[in-house]
Amino acid sequence: MSGAPLRAAPTPAAGCAERPVLRERGQREVFCGLTGIIWLHRKIQDAFFLIVGSRTCAHLMQSAAGVMIFAEPRFGTAVIEERDLAGLADANEELDRVVEQLLARRPDIRLLFLVGSCPSEVIKLDLSKAAQRLATRHSPDVRVLNYSGSGIETTFTEGEDACLAALVPSLPAEPAAADPSLLVVGALADVVEDQFRRLFDNLGIADVRFLPARRAGEMPAVGPNTRLLLAQPFLGRTLAALEARGARRLAAPFPLGAEGTTSWLKAAAEDFGVEPGHFSAMTRHARERARLAVARHRERLEGKRLFLFPDSQLEIPLARFLARELGMIPLEVGTPYLHRAILDEELAALPDGALVSEGQDVERQLDRCRAARPDITVCGLGLANPLEVEGLATKWSIELVFTPIQGYEQAGDLAELFARPLVRRTRLEV
Ligand code: SF4
Repeated sequence: MSGAPLRAAPTPAAGCAERPVLRERGQREVFCGLTGIIWLHRKIQDAFFLIVGSRTCAHLMQSAAGVMIFAEPRFGTAVIEERDLAGLADANEELDRVVEQLLARRPDIRLLFLVGSCPSEVIKLDLSKAAQRLATRHSPDVRVLNYSGSGIETTFTEGEDACLAALVPSLPAEPAAADPSLLVVGALADVVEDQFRRLFDNLGIADVRFLPARRAGEMPAVGPNTRLLLAQPFLGRTLAALEARGARRLAAPFPLGAEGTTSWLKAAAEDFGVEPGHFSAMTRHARERARLAVARHRERLEGKRLFLFPDSQLEIPLARFLARELGMIPLEVGTPYLHRAILDEELAALPDGALVSEGQDVERQLDRCRAARPDITVCGLGLANPLEVEGLATKWSIELVFTPIQGYEQAGDLAELFARPLVRRTRLEV
């Protein structure tokens, strides 16, 4: 491991304030926020995501879902036809009709998201009004909310942020005299959520809730006694909405790798008054397992040079993990947005030599990548194939959002995700 110690408590501002950040505002290569539906619909098991969009939106979802999921989908697209775009049809009436049909056919739906898209925004279809109208009609059986997954000036993980932020106003209020509770925010695979719940339980933090919950009727209460831990770094709007409801964020790095997971858990443990010896004893075995699982990949990854294009917003925590626990050398760490308040601890732990860039001018960034010839490049699907053809090993950043990577038990798998492209390349070269 290298660099400053990874801290759960807020670090002095100097660490990240002094780090120069390259800001670029040019052409970008990203997926839109609709993509988040692919993992969110698996998480909230009685929700349905109705995209109000075009055939392009439907095709994006079908191809992404066809590759990435195998379960019965709980999303669909209400396709805006040309006559809607030409203003010849009443889009609200059409939408109401589609929702009626859907809810009649699927009585299991308890939470319906109307998801806006570029076309619904182009025709200025007011989905918040539509959601209110439909909520009144279908309450109390079905709650109807809306958010935008539009691709204009967004990146794909913003879809989850917009979805969770839309949920916050409808969360129950925690009683004023309630004991402190812990809220873990960000969609995690169920298996990861269960592991964290057990760890918190062992630490003596019993009242732990997760947002989103697995079912619409189990969404967590929130209030001034809520302490929250972000499980994902791309939830700035959700964080602001929860803080407006009185919740307080516990500053921490993200639970990637043995070290990141320990610091993340420790932030909660310290706030809830868990005795350090007890914390150490309760996490020792899992920590050691994670350290050994990660170490198995160190020989292949140590000293390898890494270039991350801005895509998932996980880039900074990932680079920190790969540098500190596997000895990789991050050359450039791109992020679509730099939310300093959320990433303070992560930025301070990055090696000094790593260039942090925010935003994108894709051609210039490709030039920097080609000039650097990194051993592994983390990027979106659109850039991966061309770079592979040029002889660069790549890792799809979207895979890191679909795969369970958080926590001690997944630390080895996360390391393996980066070792695999290098193994494959070696095999191809033989
Ligand atoms: S970028 Fe816009 S039009 Fe394209 S799939 Fe996303 S929401 Fe639909």
